[in-house]
Amino acid sequence: MSEYFNVADIFGEDVFTDKVMQERLPKKVYRALRKTIEEGKELDLATADVIAAAMKDWAIEKGATHYTHWFQPLTGVTAEKHDSFITAPREDGTILMEFSGKELIKGEPDASSFPSGGLRATFEARGYTAWDCTSPAFVRHDAAGATLCIPTAFCSYTGEALDQKTPLLRSMEAINKESLRLLKLFGNTTSKKVTPSVGPEQEYFLVDAEKFLKRKDLIFTGRTLFGAMPPKGQELDDHYFGTIRQRIASFMKDVNVELWKLGVSAKTQHNEVAPAQHELAPIYAEANVAVDHNQIVMQTLKRVACQHGMKCLLHEKPFAGVNGSGKHNNWSLTTDDGINLLDPGKTPHENVQFLLVLTCILKAVDEHADLLRESAADPGNDHRLGANEAPPAIISVFLGEQLQDVMAQLISVGEATHSLKGGVLETGVKTLPDFTKDATDRNRTSPFAFTGNKFEFRMVGSRDSIGSPNIVLNTIVAEAFSDACDILEKADDFDMAVHDLIKQYANEHQRIVFDGNGYSDEWVAEAERRGLPNIKSMVDAIPALVTDKAVAMFDKYGVFTKAELESRVEVKYENYSKALNIEARTMIDMASKQIIPAVIKYTRSLAETINAVVKAGAEASVQVELLNETSALLSDTKVALAKLIDVTEEAAGKAEGEEQARFFHDVVTVAMSELRAPVDKLEMIVDKEMWPMPSYGDLLFEV
Ligand code: ADP
Ligand code: MG
Repeated sequence: MSEYFNVADIFGEDVFTDKVMQERLPKKVYRALRKTIEEGKELDLATADVIAAAMKDWAIEKGATHYTHWFQPLTGVTAEKHDSFITAPREDGTILMEFSGKELIKGEPDASSFPSGGLRATFEARGYTAWDCTSPAFVRHDAAGATLCIPTAFCSYTGEALDQKTPLLRSMEAINKESLRLLKLFGNTTSKKVTPSVGPEQEYFLVDAEKFLKRKDLIFTGRTLFGAMPPKGQELDDHYFGTIRQRIASFMKDVNVELWKLGVSAKTQHNEVAPAQHELAPIYAEANVAVDHNQIVMQTLKRVACQHGMKCLLHEKPFAGVNGSGKHNNWSLTTDDGINLLDPGKTPHENVQFLLVLTCILKAVDEHADLLRESAADPGNDHRLGANEAPPAIISVFLGEQLQDVMAQLISVGEATHSLKGGVLETGVKTLPDFTKDATDRNRTSPFAFTGNKFEFRMVGSRDSIGSPNIVLNTIVAEAFSDACDILEKADDFDMAVHDLIKQYANEHQRIVFDGNGYSDEWVAEAERRGLPNIKSMVDAIPALVTDKAVAMFDKYGVFTKAELESRVEVKYENYSKALNIEARTMIDMASKQIIPAVIKYTRSLAETINAVVKAGAEASVQVELLNETSALLSDTKVALAKLIDVTEEAAGKAEGEEQARFFHDVVTVAMSELRAPVDKLEMIVDKEMWPMPSYGDLLFEV
């Protein structure tokens, strides 16, 4: 590609967009497909055949040789199996390129190796992928050539969801239905559809590939399991929003181009707080597309990093001692005719519909705080939530001055009569323009913050799919809307009833609102007084999925059956145990085969030096002291290693599921910390030339 190009020319060029469909499909077929996309009407096979043929021709023109059903099993990443378009050779030895409607709408991967949490025994291997026509197909170019990727849902033979997409689509139907009910109460007869809009901000680290490959912990677990702090961390705040270095800038440029071609509207990029940490955010999209796009973003970051001799770390906590990475899930509700239900307008106190939506969300978040917390739980995020960098593990809502004030009026006098204004920002410099500022400042410490016309759920892990948090958000808000509509639809005097309900919700759920410093110890104590849950780990969070209230709600709104929830619980415990088992075994491997031998080599060289010095008749007390110190730490290391080996073996013998996961959490992680402590001290003593892997300083500051 030439140096200069126009983004508008390449945007979406590898996507089977609406425009392409209009150009390539017969009118009747196009209309039938739009009906399916917009109204969920079923697609008949004859129509699917025509679409498949057009899609194939288009993909082949883009160089595609294969197609794949692209899906999101419960592994956190996407899965695919490639089929080429070729048919069996004909008599004359030539082949045809074919792709039928049946192949487009249904796939049958041998699914027995994907996590199913007991929903399917291994001998019942059948699983189906089903075309999700609401998320556009695209052609991906990589070392495999070009592949037509078809976003699909993944279900078992009996129709149970084995993926993220199926429940997400179900939750979108639920929030659509209940939002339309609510809008109708306010006299809206024009909106036909309400969709959750989602904009995820993605944080990540970049490290040099050569150094990465010298660290077994990064290779096997995505994070460092040992590592002493470098002399400099993030204390100067000089990396945050700093000038982007050329190597990184060139990487970002390629990422953007790749994403734009795939129709992902990559918009912002900047350096984050920790050294070597960065962020990318696209413009928000419909939830389903946003979830797929976020997977594309993560894959693209990794692939392009390799092309630039770097590795992209998506783990939530790649390095101890500096900030980890998260994902901010911005969420709002938009009608097909462009109304944002979360837009307060200039005078929120008069916007009754907004106040009802807002108080319903407070109710939803308060009643299901445990589910939201669970939706952000993964093994990596255990290192962030509650530490001094990410929001605490306690769910609370930040409203900002203006809405807090409206809430206070509702609670104290039962009615809101005025809204605070933003006012003019005066800089005191004549040449700078005065501008009106927002009515509300931001709060970086809140896990669930209102930011103007959307909520920002800031707990999500950087490596995790944003599927789960959006499934939960959509469903809990659908339930709150539904509860409100049940009451209001029966009311004789709507104005009076809605006024009373807003007041009631504001009163009953004010405990979830907190605008102060979420990182402070005072808040932890205050939250406890308020009775808000503080769920500290993934293992503690998982049971929220199967409480009676969760099962009843997910079932009522058709998002998960009880069996599906139970299977997810199993999968999560299993994922946790497996992740921790790999981490423990990686530490054992590194300590036994790399670190202890290196330290022994160092002690030998010290001993030899001491001998030589003494022989020369000089004084060797410093060397002796160092040798003693090193030997003592080596002995601590050996003891801690033996213990970690023991408890990891013991963990393997535990019953799979909760018991095993708990043991990993309560016992194995403690043994891991105990092994890390002496090793990190040794790293500060042993000759750098002899230390068997790059240091934090090498990884974080020499990219
Ligand atoms: P920041 O919070 O870092 O200042 P922004 O608030 O501008 O950044 O946007 C962060 C993300 O929120 C972007 O992906 C943006 O497109 C998305 N976003 C903006 N408005 C909405 C909305 N109404 N609903 C959902 N996401 C939104
Ligand atoms: Mg933001």
